[in-house]
Amino acid sequence: MKLPCYLVRDLLPLYKDELCEPETAADLRAHLDSCPDCRALWEKMQTDAPLEREAVQAREREQADALRRVRKNQRKKRMLTVLASVAATLCAVTLGLGALYEYARTTYPDYGAEVIEEVRYEEQGIPGNSPFAGEGLYATLSAEASGALVSSKMVDTENSTAVVFTVSGTLWQQWLDTLGRNAETPANTRTAICTAGGYGQAEMESLCAAYYLPYHSFMSWFYQNNAPLPEDAILLWQRDAS
Ligand SMILES: [Zn+2]
Repeated sequence: MKLPCYLVRDLLPLYKDELCEPETAADLRAHLDSCPDCRALWEKMQTDAPLEREAVQAREREQADALRRVRKNQRKKRMLTVLASVAATLCAVTLGLGALYEYARTTYPDYGAEVIEEVRYEEQGIPGNSPFAGEGLYATLSAEASGALVSSKMVDTENSTAVVFTVSGTLWQQWLDTLGRNAETPANTRTAICTAGGYGQAEMESLCAAYYLPYHSFMSWFYQNNAPLPEDAILLWQRDAS
């Protein structure tokens, strides 16, 4: 059968893939032998094919490379995200600790009068020549206030002198003191309120009473000039009338 050229051009791909009936294949071969145009097309198809395969392979390689690059970038991004969150966490921890330290260093807790276990006048007092030693008025603090310091100020009452004092220390000092305390170094709880040696600038003979104020009340009273004895001051010691 003689095939028209347009039909041959349509059939050539099937022929190339060997999908034609044997009779169709025979007719195609016959046509190719006699038709230079279709033969030229057929020969071109033979040489095109490998190129096409190569092009497809090259495209596949490109796509695989692109995929690998994308995955690599994703891995890099994930790694950076992890590093960033680790850094952020470290920053937050550092800032948090810094803020905590700043808070502890600047916070003075108000101790109630119950942290003062005893106020006692001692003629000998703590030995030594320091202003914090010798004859004077001493407080014994509970372990809760260990490491805290006593601040005091004299105030004139009707016919004698009283001392108003507080117990103060930062949270930080309190923590350090608690950490440093053990069987060998028990809480240091005996401390001078005012002494003849100079601390508190007390006239021991005229000293008749000791009052306690929590830290913040004490400080606002302390900076007033000639302030009278505060009404909420707690009387903790009084000289015997005898
Ligand atoms: Zn032809």
